[in-house]
Amino acid sequence: MSSHGERVANHELLKQVNAALVYRLIDTQGPISRVDIAQISALAPASVTNITRQLLEHGLIKEVAQQASTGGRPAISLTTEQAAFLFISCRLGREELHCSVMDLSGAIHQHTVSTLLQHDAEGIVAALQQAIQQQLQIARNKQKFIAVAITMAGLVDPQTGTVLYSPNHQIANLELAQRLQSITDLPIYIGNDTRALALAEYYLGAAQGCQDFILVSIHHGAGAGIISNGQLLLGRNRNVGEIGHIQIDPFGEHCHCGNFGCLETMVSNKAIIAQTRAMLAKGHTSSLQNENLTIEQICQAAIRHDPVAVQIIRQAGENLGRVLAILVNLFNPEKILLAGEIVQSATVLFPALLQQIQRQSLPNFHHELHLDQAHFQGQGTMGGYALVKRALHESDLLQRIMQP
Ligand SMILES: [Zn+2]
Repeated sequence: MSSHGERVANHELLKQVNAALVYRLIDTQGPISRVDIAQISALAPASVTNITRQLLEHGLIKEVAQQASTGGRPAISLTTEQAAFLFISCRLGREELHCSVMDLSGAIHQHTVSTLLQHDAEGIVAALQQAIQQQLQIARNKQKFIAVAITMAGLVDPQTGTVLYSPNHQIANLELAQRLQSITDLPIYIGNDTRALALAEYYLGAAQGCQDFILVSIHHGAGAGIISNGQLLLGRNRNVGEIGHIQIDPFGEHCHCGNFGCLETMVSNKAIIAQTRAMLAKGHTSSLQNENLTIEQICQAAIRHDPVAVQIIRQAGENLGRVLAILVNLFNPEKILLAGEIVQSATVLFPALLQQIQRQSLPNFHHELHLDQAHFQGQGTMGGYALVKRALHESDLLQRIMQP
């Protein structure tokens, strides 16, 4: 009885999936010819012609002439249009809100930083509203705004745009996307910052072309974004990678999650500073001073072979390495990328990590493993770039742009 309606709906869905497939191919492999698109996608040449015509009409792609290697008449290829589409990317940190206007190439056109004064739901919503409105007002030009993206630490439901839990602010079950819809009718994409940055490394950073890798980020906490077979793992409540709460020491420090001795109580910036302070207080010889001690100073001292700093960083490497070994055994990644201030001590940290990974994971899994620094260090708004890119590649945002 509903078969006609269903057929129409299925036909419409199939059209959208095919359009996203063609756009994704042009974006990741362009400049590319229509013939090659048809061959790779297994779509009929007539379908490819039809879809590319629609993408051209909406300015999403453009034609470029490419000289054939054999000489002769230049062939027409297709590439995505990037500079004409703008979006706002916000990174909600602990103390600061970073807000960029970016285009689809990842170029930042404007950037503002504001200090977060109020950490409850109303304060956070107000700060975001103000920053987004400010950016929308400044950037009035020929380009088109297509989306707003927001990334933050904690548990976020990207489907509903709800912030379930934040370790940094007093917010829980906040329907953030819905609250912000009062100031803009642009689609709003919200995601966890570490997971989004893993995607950014995949699209533009140190993991381009890598189908299986893990980004591990250490700052105030510790988290991971896991890309498996080119897809970000999400899990039941859309959040996978809370490695900061893997227990290392059952009799360790009390963690904000309620447990004891979690990884982040041992390797976070705060923990490393506290461990260094304790060593200095015992009177161990070091170039470091207890006053105003920072993670950067500790990393620099470790590189200069300061005995206290080397001991602290090695110990952090052993503890983090235990968790990385678990990740290697579970996911068999090609690459692990590390982000955070602690990577400034890479010459001391990475050997300790590798040693632990080699001890505790399968040889077949670790023998070609690459351990590397993340490309987007301190560029938090790149996470939002990845959310927008994914929304285009997976059809949702593409359809919104192509709607009449
Ligand atoms: Zn914990």
